[in-house]
Amino acid sequence: MEQQKIAIRTLTLEELSAEIENLGEKKFRARQVYEWLWQKSAFSFDEMSNLSKELRLKLDERFSINAIVVDLTQKSSDGTIKCRFKLFDEYLVEGVLIPSENRMTACISSQVGCNLGCKFCATGYMRTKRNLTPYEIYDQVVLLNRIALEHYTLPLTNIVFMGMGEPLLNYANVLKGIDRITAEDGLHMSAKRITVSTAGIAKMIRKLGDDAVKFNLALSLHAADDIKRSALMPVNDANNLEDVMDALNYFYDKTGNKITFEYILFDGINESMEDARNLVKLCRKVPAKINIIEYNTIREADYHKSDEDHREKFISYLEHHDVVAKVRRSRGKDIAAACGQLANK
Ligand code: SF4
Repeated sequence: MEQQKIAIRTLTLEELSAEIENLGEKKFRARQVYEWLWQKSAFSFDEMSNLSKELRLKLDERFSINAIVVDLTQKSSDGTIKCRFKLFDEYLVEGVLIPSENRMTACISSQVGCNLGCKFCATGYMRTKRNLTPYEIYDQVVLLNRIALEHYTLPLTNIVFMGMGEPLLNYANVLKGIDRITAEDGLHMSAKRITVSTAGIAKMIRKLGDDAVKFNLALSLHAADDIKRSALMPVNDANNLEDVMDALNYFYDKTGNKITFEYILFDGINESMEDARNLVKLCRKVPAKINIIEYNTIREADYHKSDEDHREKFISYLEHHDVVAKVRRSRGKDIAAACGQLANK
């Protein structure tokens, strides 16, 4: 029976060194292989040109790299590019490249599907099939960076975990993936350019503080009172706003990292002056900036975006109360790549 191959990128450098010695090779070869895997992002052993052919064959017999592959790309009329990635076990996830005036942002996924069931989100209608591994998180960044260079001759500047899945429910793998993206012996990108977006799992937000992470945090807020928020986001039942705000303050005290509230304005749901007042109150409790996001209708649910009049009034109320709010126009709507639309369609 064929021996099952080891997923080489689950190994630490020390573990890899032991494996390489077992193959009868010198230990320093492990460092070379590790560099190929994490700094040079080799997706096959054949690319490892400073290793002998014999060693490359031995590696191929014993290990698998399990790289993700681009299965499909679609380019929006606004320049946004959506990628469907195929994982080694045939599952699919999506990532989006969002070029803007001064940024090249990769929006990446952390899970296949999502169990949190936010009512307005296409992914929320697919159950979680599995967590992504650290190297699958890393691979999305590598591939979107290659696409950015190919289409725009510019590298990625920012990474947001706002694709499929709840990153804090895949905590260890997300942190390990970010470590490979930011480490000097990895892609060496700045953690300050990474934002992890959560639906609000209070316990895990505190853990981020305890782990003194260097990246920024965004909360998908979308309503500033518990009744409305629970109706939109069932996760709020077990993580009410008071708990989440306490956890965010804890995170901020421990790390000093930026916090953003993401707020989608829905027609007739969370756009009134009372909603704006509640939002201002929350912003007095936590040092956060606000991104107001335009909604994109999905087939699965009957929500619609606010009209311009409501949006302007809402934003001017915030501004009058010294709350910084930026409007983020949704990108890639025509290819279902906008916020909340990712569902492998
Ligand atoms: S918004 Fe995020 S947390 Fe909510 S269902 Fe969608 S992917 Fe999951």
